[in-house]
Amino acid sequence: MEKVVIIRYAEIHLKGKNRSYFERVFAMNLERALRGIRHELHRTSGRYLVEKFPEGREEEIEERCLRVFGVHSCSIGLLVGSDMDALFEGVRLIAPQEGSFKVVTHRGYKKYPLTSMEISAELGGRLLESFPKLRVDVHTPENMVYVDIRENGAALVFCAFRAGAGGMPVGTSGKGLLLISGGIDSPVAGHMMAKRGLSLEMLHFHSYPYTNDGAKEKVFSLARILSVYTGCGRVCTVSVTHIQEEIHKKCAAELNVTLLRRFMFRIAERVAADLGCGCLVTGESLGQVASQTLEGMTSSNDVVRLPVLRPLVGFDKDEIIARAKQIGTFETSVLPYEDCCTVFLPEHPATRPKLSFIEEEETKLDVEALVEEALTTLERTSL
Ligand code: ATP
Ligand code: MG
Repeated sequence: MEKVVIIRYAEIHLKGKNRSYFERVFAMNLERALRGIRHELHRTSGRYLVEKFPEGREEEIEERCLRVFGVHSCSIGLLVGSDMDALFEGVRLIAPQEGSFKVVTHRGYKKYPLTSMEISAELGGRLLESFPKLRVDVHTPENMVYVDIRENGAALVFCAFRAGAGGMPVGTSGKGLLLISGGIDSPVAGHMMAKRGLSLEMLHFHSYPYTNDGAKEKVFSLARILSVYTGCGRVCTVSVTHIQEEIHKKCAAELNVTLLRRFMFRIAERVAADLGCGCLVTGESLGQVASQTLEGMTSSNDVVRLPVLRPLVGFDKDEIIARAKQIGTFETSVLPYEDCCTVFLPEHPATRPKLSFIEEEETKLDVEALVEEALTTLERTSL
């Protein structure tokens, strides 16, 4: 008999050849989540089992696995022999000793000599004999006891299911570049795309010395929290200080933000190409601020060929905040440090900038040279 953590995944995405790829990536992500805890990970028909871990670590293991995308649910249980005595020995250890209960048996191994009903009835009967304060309630039991008969004379017994993060294993949908600011939105956007199986690199723009190291540190903290879900262990940073100064000096003030965002996208596309990312991801939400209008998004899309994924586009701020709290980034996001967008912020930013006007203003800048120069400031930081 051995304590195990049972991990179930949603098999819905598994078609034909996809299956082994999906399972390989999924197993790798589980291994990464369990780094630092001695264990063995085994796959048995539609489930993974974490085995041979140090005593007392099961809850921590379950917690970590629950956050891995692709996990449908987890249970802490016992791996036991499938003969009736061994089953009962396990069930007796995990079952409640008073209150109402119900045994539910599932037979993955169909040649087992008893039916599921017979197994449940036998184990239920034995439990009632052992614990006089127990009673059976098949309709609304306070406690459940699950028995899962596997092949090769093995079985799993457990009492609870905990819901996992769902989604698809990170990496099975390719790789994207998340534009991460220190705000509330972009970490949530990253989390949402990672849930769809996108692996993420992260890029942050700063305006040192107008923004300080605290602002950068804040982004690193956010990236670190995100990395629990995405597994990505580094952030790229690029300075846009000179670009902002040039825009401020030479271009119409109401276009400051619009023009800066076009530079950000251009730079991001170059970084994405270097890192093998097939899309950009931002935390924009339609109409949230002046630059996030349809015209604003059109103007930034206009300078890149990569698709720009904006998973928050239809979300209210309240919904985004609720998610930020759930994933644990909110507290850090609201720390008071300046983002580069707030430096040189014009009093009346254009909400519906015309592409022709933007292009005209941009002719006052040496766009290519500024992009190249910014790229020389690129730094990669491991988290
Ligand atoms: P956030 O809460 O993510 O900062 P926001 O509501 O402040 O978003 P904007 O400042 O307009 O909105 O930024 C929109 C998106 O542009 C951000 O979600 C992020 O993806 C990207 N972005 C903004 N500032 C930066 C930055 N300094 N570095 C990298 N990406 C940025
Ligand atoms: Mg912001």
